[in-house]
Amino acid sequence: MERVYNFSAGPSMLPLEVLEKAGKEMTNYGEAGMSVMEMSHRSKDFDNIIKEAEALFRELMNIPDNYKVLFLQGGGSTQFAMVPLNLMRNSKKADYIVTGQWAKKAMTEAKKFGDIRVVATSEPDVYTYIPKVKKEDFREDADYVYITANNTIYGTRYPYIPDTGDIPLVADMSSNILSQEYDISKFGLIFAGAQKNIGPAGLVVAAIREDLIGFAPENCPTMLNYKTQADNDSLYNTPPTYSIYFAKLVFEWVKSKGGVKELQKINERKAAKLYDAIDRSELFNCPVNKEDRSLMNVVFVTGNADLDKKFVAEAKAAGLVNLGGHRTVGGMRASIYNAMPEEGVDALIAFMEKFEAENK
Ligand SMILES: *Cc1c(COP(=O)(O)O)cnc(C)c1O
Repeated sequence: MERVYNFSAGPSMLPLEVLEKAGKEMTNYGEAGMSVMEMSHRSKDFDNIIKEAEALFRELMNIPDNYKVLFLQGGGSTQFAMVPLNLMRNSKKADYIVTGQWAKKAMTEAKKFGDIRVVATSEPDVYTYIPKVKKEDFREDADYVYITANNTIYGTRYPYIPDTGDIPLVADMSSNILSQEYDISKFGLIFAGAQKNIGPAGLVVAAIREDLIGFAPENCPTMLNYKTQADNDSLYNTPPTYSIYFAKLVFEWVKSKGGVKELQKINERKAAKLYDAIDRSELFNCPVNKEDRSLMNVVFVTGNADLDKKFVAEAKAAGLVNLGGHRTVGGMRASIYNAMPEEGVDALIAFMEKFEAENK
């Protein structure tokens, strides 16, 4: 079986070059005489791997020096608890903008720890847009403000970074990390589950401003305290060593493509092509507000659930797989992360045109 164009929202496509390199090194890494999976996390070889992974991530995302980069476990969802546990430093109040299921889950989890206010939500409009919020909308004494930078399920992204003044801004960048440039100094904390743009599921990469570390309560589980992880350079316990190694290979790949700046241009081109095809079509329709459309997750529908199903099935037979929308929303979703080649998007557009001609 040939490799297919995999439009899955996550775990998702990874660069073939990276998979092949990992394959070559699978049984014997460099001069180590063993696989990275078999290596002590305290070994010199692994120390080099994690240090290089961090250095590359810092370079690619332009992480300022006063931020710690952490490699964590438990997926994006564990951050939904770690954020309030660690960042409710004073008032124990936090303000959330709810733009999708991930934001809602994060908000619901945070309610276990403090006083949460939903500043804005697009839920009544099925999360088809990103609310515009101003500095005055936040509680002055909020310990942090929380956003989901890219909404994987609904296909939206923030076209702006909310101005929160002195209140630290937290962003879940799970589905758009490394896909566009960001001024990280505008955030107190960013995090990303790895399985969309970085590598194997389970790993989380985070960057946190140093002055926000060290405020977790006494009874905070050791592993869930950013301070534990920061003080031990993400090596308090055995970290997900192979996933960190794999992330390093992906970071090297991103760098070899010219870095995030160049990938952003490619991502903008890929997304524009696909949205143009949808907007041009008389069959397909994108429900998302134009200016808030995601570069990574392109959501579209025919308006007929049976026809949507037929599209997804026929696309699959043509080697364009995982185009079904999230199980809770239906329709179609093409996730076109960094590793989706432009030819994959071209093939999808050609298939959509053929399908439309056949199903008029
Ligand atoms: C996938 C995703 C998550 C959840 O990640 P898990 O690793 O499954 O916990 C959280 N936030 C966003 C934006 C996501 O896309």
